[in-house]
Amino acid sequence: MAGVQLRLIGHMTVLIEMDGLTILTDPWFGPRGRKERTLAPRIVPPAASLGELGHIDLLLVSHNHIDHCDDISLETARDKCITVVGPRSVAKRAKKLGAKSVVELEPAGVYRLNKRSGDRSSQVSIEALKASHPLASDALAYLIRGSKTVFFSGDTRYTPELECALKSAQPDIALVQAACAHYPLLGDDGMSLPEAAALVRAIRPRWTVPLHLHCAGKWLDRARGIRIRRDNQIEVSAALKAWRAELESEGLGICILGPGEECKLCEK
Ligand SMILES: [Zn+2]
Repeated sequence: MAGVQLRLIGHMTVLIEMDGLTILTDPWFGPRGRKERTLAPRIVPPAASLGELGHIDLLLVSHNHIDHCDDISLETARDKCITVVGPRSVAKRAKKLGAKSVVELEPAGVYRLNKRSGDRSSQVSIEALKASHPLASDALAYLIRGSKTVFFSGDTRYTPELECALKSAQPDIALVQAACAHYPLLGDDGMSLPEAAALVRAIRPRWTVPLHLHCAGKWLDRARGIRIRRDNQIEVSAALKAWRAELESEGLGICILGPGEECKLCEK
């Protein structure tokens, strides 16, 4: 299968099919219970349950926050023997919940995923990059390398180290955080639209997909006062469209996916 098939389940949960392998990023299917609802007030439900997604080769987790990895996902990984790849805190939690196939990565660590079905063998490599996410000290971003290279940002600030790694990797597709929390003492804890635009201008992937847009309270653009809420989806969608138009006018490909929507990129 040429190209990369993407399906957004919601927030940062993306089903990636490439080279015959299926990877699900930052699986969040909750909230389950009041605590999760308070910590991560989801504004739209996930487009499918994990069980409805068919065969998955790997859960790829950027960090141990509830909107990036929940117990529902780790329990399903345990029950269906899906490999979980993530930083130390995620690996520890997955093992505690009984998952058997768990891979712990540190920055610059690489995991190779191989699969043989019949005559066909598939391989992608997952390289961890250091993320800068003040509230998750072991947070990672990832490069998924197969016939195409996909960057998955998780939650991270735009740092010179990240820019340098991405300029050398030249990803075809960038899945980027486009809204983040802000704290008085810490400042922004990741990228919102302006930083995401700056990053993709610097690395110029063929396609960019903005993510992290389905949890209330995250800032899409602080300078313009746009923050994600349940009742301002028209404003959010207009801001995303304007962002896309600006970047498209600079020759960049932007693909905005809503929950449940899919697309196939880099077919040629
Ligand atoms: Zn997050």
